Amino acid sequence: MELTVLGTRGSIPINRSDSMIFGGQTSCYMVRAGEETLFLDAGSGLISAPTHFEKAPSILLSHFHLDHVIGLPMYPRLLEKGSETILYCPAITLQGAEAILDGVFSPPVWPLRLTEYTGTLTLRTMSRRFRIGDVAVETMAGWHPDGAVVMRLHAEGKSLVYATDCEPDERGMETLAAFSKDADLLLFDAQYTEDEYGKRIGFGHATAAAGRNLMERSGAKKLLLIHHDPQRTDAELLAAEKRVGRDDIRFAREGETICL
Ligand SMILES: [Zn+2]
Ligand SMILES: [Zn+2]
Repeated sequence: MELTVLGTRGSIPINRSDSMIFGGQTSCYMVRAGEETLFLDAGSGLISAPTHFEKAPSILLSHFHLDHVIGLPMYPRLLEKGSETILYCPAITLQGAEAILDGVFSPPVWPLRLTEYTGTLTLRTMSRRFRIGDVAVETMAGWHPDGAVVMRLHAEGKSLVYATDCEPDERGMETLAAFSKDADLLLFDAQYTEDEYGKRIGFGHATAAAGRNLMERSGAKKLLLIHHDPQRTDAELLAAEKRVGRDDIRFAREGETICL
């Protein structure tokens, strides 16, 4: 199983000369395992994703906030006639998911509904446990305004946990540590510094220290800190990474691939 970071910026895409190392595209991670390709979220990072696959790729949405779906209408595969892309949505009704997406991507805000593209976008809802080919997916409700799904993927004897937009309280930390037990890779939201967090409690994002705490409690082998604040520069992220001072804890860089 391997994971490629296509976008890991939080809240809104940016393009600034001081942020080229960690990148400016919003949440999108490509996971390859055997013949499956899965995308975790469809932020602006999705627009530079590959478009040709042996099997239809699946996109798993953690939630519908704009930074996690904004890549969908510009993903070139959706314009390819005869292509199919499967979109797994958080567990609400399919009609509900379609209505939410239509609320963003339909005239007059966007010229075309996602279901009117020449390629087929097939909507499905995520259940607690399901399979996509050889990949087993487990989900749980996270801690975020409007909700966000936390996912664990298992394939080829390895597992990774994707916990973006995630602000667990003390009891939530316990639940999340159990859910993440012994994962090979943990992706965790570290949008805020410790100082900022005090002013943004309840916004649904966490810190590097919370990620480290979760890693230690869960026994996860590697921690990738994600969902960088749009104001955060490369210099600030590099300094924060140096302060953590561990090879197994890093801030995600757009374009990097991690093999498990
Ligand atoms: Zn987000
Ligand atoms: Zn969010």
